Amino acid sequence: MQTPAADPASADVLVVGAGIAGLTAAALLAKAGLQVELVEAHRQSGGCAGTFQRGPYTFDVGATQVAGLEPGGIHQRIFRHLGVAPPAAAALDPGCVVDLADGRPPVRLHRDPTRWRAERQAQFPGSERFWSLCAAVHQANWAFAGRDPVLPPRSAWDLAQLLAALGPLNLASGLLTTATMADLQRLSGCGHDRRLRRFLDLQLKLYSQEPADRTAALYGATVLAMVQEPLGLWHLQGSMQRLAEALERGLDLAGGTLRRRHRVTALQPPIGTSGLWQVLGEGPGGRPFQAQPRDVVLTLPPQTLPALLGDALPAGYRRRLSALPDPSGALVFYGAVPRQQLPTDCPSHLQRDSSDPGPLFVSVSQEGDGRAPAGEATVIASVFTPARPWFDLEEGTYQRRKARALAAIQAGLNQLLGLEAAAWCHAELATPRGWAGWTGRPFGWVGGLGQHPSRFGPFGLASRTPLAGLWLCGDAIHPGEGTAGVSLSALMASRQLLQARGRPLHLDD
Ligand SMILES: Cc1cc2nc3c(=O)[nH]c(=O)nc-3n(C[C@H](O)[C@H](O)[C@H](O)COP(=O)(O)OP(=O)(O)OC[C@H]3O[C@@H](n4cnc5c(N)ncnc54)[C@H](O)[C@@H]3O)c2cc1C
Repeated sequence: MQTPAADPASADVLVVGAGIAGLTAAALLAKAGLQVELVEAHRQSGGCAGTFQRGPYTFDVGATQVAGLEPGGIHQRIFRHLGVAPPAAAALDPGCVVDLADGRPPVRLHRDPTRWRAERQAQFPGSERFWSLCAAVHQANWAFAGRDPVLPPRSAWDLAQLLAALGPLNLASGLLTTATMADLQRLSGCGHDRRLRRFLDLQLKLYSQEPADRTAALYGATVLAMVQEPLGLWHLQGSMQRLAEALERGLDLAGGTLRRRHRVTALQPPIGTSGLWQVLGEGPGGRPFQAQPRDVVLTLPPQTLPALLGDALPAGYRRRLSALPDPSGALVFYGAVPRQQLPTDCPSHLQRDSSDPGPLFVSVSQEGDGRAPAGEATVIASVFTPARPWFDLEEGTYQRRKARALAAIQAGLNQLLGLEAAAWCHAELATPRGWAGWTGRPFGWVGGLGQHPSRFGPFGLASRTPLAGLWLCGDAIHPGEGTAGVSLSALMASRQLLQARGRPLHLDD
């Protein structure tokens, strides 16, 4: 039997998973003076917001655009707190161009609010009351989110944070807690507008995993406001990995440690009065490691808890986790083409409705942004797919389905971008099986629990678990997926952990 290595044994706080949530939590906790170890199964950090290299191309593996880099945005606030420069980024304008495949001109999501108002009035006549209602709900949401609430509350302190974050506008928008975006459309008198509904379905599904009639109004209203100033979506210079690298610098500066190739395999709650967790895992080469931290911050999907905790998981909590609906999976195409074959002024992000292979979300690299050699562009396209069925297939069938999906996505891109089939210099596809391998997520699930009203905000899974010293953050925790969302959840869990140790954490605006 091998002797367990002592590596992360000295950790006072062990953070599991160095995606954006784990990097953010680890850096904040280390900055607050705790002895923090961050363990990551992969050879690199970033998780769903990382990159990989194929010959001369750098592909953003999942996330391709970043919210929260504007002044006062969550990434900016965190970088300022950590004393680290944020990654170089340019605001996206348009944020996205959405082709509803109905023969009408695509919808351009302009950054300038005035141009966006003119665009939506031309595209969806008679819908202005809907947009005004969304804007009012968003303003209430945004002020609330900026006061760092704790949601859902599980202690007196959590409740005090929540109440302190509420303003008069939230009391009004609170009436919409159980409403969906489709309800807002009906309330505004434009429920009959099927083109608007299709637009909302496409955009909301990207961020909430749900269409308009299943997306919480309090969430969806903010999604629709993300592109325009004073907020914005940003394109990182170099690659998405720059975000993780900047957070790594913050962790390092604060004295925390990141251990790559360290996979956690089991968590055992404190026994007796020790107050120490027992964390077991495998380091490089399968070498076992263990750690005895006082606190564990888990950024993996909470559906991993039954396997990690075994019988130590409280029965009621286990039932709650097993009742969660499956998150979505994704098929992601990574390709490259000569830039001259792309349409002139090709936007960086496009969305196109399609029944086969399904609505595509497309990201095209910009000249000189570090992703492709001069004169070429990377093209990434993703489509949602139910994840589990990909795991039931025998190898031959799996390969055939994968090849068929790749061909369907490529055909969709050829149509959208006016490309010849021979234009492609590179083409490959990741299925949920690939995602499971890259991220360690069960069935390669992407995104969180979905933003249905029954799982949003007060009805979501809490970062404070029933097991003392075990905290959750990441895209299954409020406010949900996206690098900005998981950073907010990391801040929330870090504040709770620090408060439990009598060290309040406050970020300046
Ligand atoms: C295709 C796709 C496109 C997206 N596009 C965008 C976008 O444009 N903009 C945006 O903001 N968001 C986007 N997202 C969402 C965003 O990428 C995620 O919400 C966010 O990056 C999740 O971060 P996380 O830290 O919670 O989880 P993850 O990124 O999954 O990080 C978890 C980490 O834990 C590690 N790990 C897993 N198991 C173990 C273990 N047992 N022990 C140790 N480590 C382990 C993993 O290797 C991983 O690094 C996209 C996601 C996908 C999949």
